Amino acid sequence: MTANSNSNQKVKAAVFKFTCCAGCQFALLHFFDQQVETLELLDFVYFKMARRKELDEPYELAFIEGGVSAPEHIEQLKAIRKQAKTLVAFGACAAHGGVPAIKDWQTEIDVEERAYPDPLLVSSMKVSPVDEFVKVDHYLRGCPIDEVEFMEMIRSIAADKRPYVREHPVCLECKLKNNICILLMREGVQESMCLGPVTRGGCRVVCTSNMRACFGCRGPMSNPNIAEMVRTFKGKGFSGKDIEMRFTEYAGLSAEFREGARAYYERKAPYYKRKAA
Ligand code: SF4
Ligand code: SF4
Ligand code: SF4
Repeated sequence: MTANSNSNQKVKAAVFKFTCCAGCQFALLHFFDQQVETLELLDFVYFKMARRKELDEPYELAFIEGGVSAPEHIEQLKAIRKQAKTLVAFGACAAHGGVPAIKDWQTEIDVEERAYPDPLLVSSMKVSPVDEFVKVDHYLRGCPIDEVEFMEMIRSIAADKRPYVREHPVCLECKLKNNICILLMREGVQESMCLGPVTRGGCRVVCTSNMRACFGCRGPMSNPNIAEMVRTFKGKGFSGKDIEMRFTEYAGLSAEFREGARAYYERKAPYYKRKAA
C-alpha cells in the first residue's frame, strides 16, 4: 500500500465507529487543520463525521474506533477486515475496550437497568477490544489518539513501512520534560496515583505535565512491573477499590492492567468467565 502526493495514488481509507464517544474521530477532524500535507496521503472514502457520503467504493485502510458491544458488531467487523488490507485499532476503546469497558467489571443487568428503561429490549454484551474478533495490524492508542503518532503512522503506512511502536513508559517522557513526579510528591492524595511507570508512552505526557496523574489511557507498556506498581500504591495507603478503579478506567481488559485490578479484589466479574486471564 503506497501513496504519493498524486491524488489518484492516495491510500483509500475508511473510518468506522463502534462503541465509544467518537472523540478520536473528532480529534482526527481537528488534525485536518494542522496536518494538511500528511492527510493528503489519504483519500477518505468513508468518514461519517466529516461528510455525509455513504460507503460506495472499496478501501484499503480501515480505522476502527470503539469497542465491540453488540452481536451485530462482530459481523460488521469481520466484513471490514475482509475488505481492508490494513486495519488500525483507533484509540483506547478499540485497542482495550476503553471507558465503555468499565461495565465489564459490573453485572450486565445492573448496568442495563441503569441505562435503559426496559433492559429486555437491549441485546448488548460485554465490551471487547477489536482484536478479540479480528486481526489488528496497528494500534493507535490513547484517549483520544495522539496527533504526532497518527501522522507518523500515516506516513509509514503510505510508504509501506512498519509504524514505529513505542515500548517505553510514560515516565520516560515525563522525566525528559523535567516534570515534578506527582507520584512521589503528594502521598496519599488521589491525584498522585500515577500509572506512568507501567503505561505505554507516546502521548507527550499531556496529563502529568499539567500535574494530573496518568490514568493509563494508552494501556500497558511492554513488560510492565504491575506487582511493583500495586505495592507502591498500597504503600501510599490507596484502597483496593482505588487501585481497581485506576487500572480499569481505560485499559482494564488488557491482561496486565487486569492483573493490577485484581491484586486486591478476586472479584468474579462475568468477564472472567468469558475470557481466560
Ligand atoms: S478512546 Fe477516548 S476519545 Fe477515543 S473514542 Fe474512546 S472514549 Fe472517545
Ligand atoms: S509523574 Fe507519573 S509519569 Fe511522571 S515520572 Fe512520576 S510516576 Fe512517572
Ligand atoms: S499521561 Fe497517561 S492518561 Fe494522560 S494521555 Fe498520557 S497515557 Fe493517557
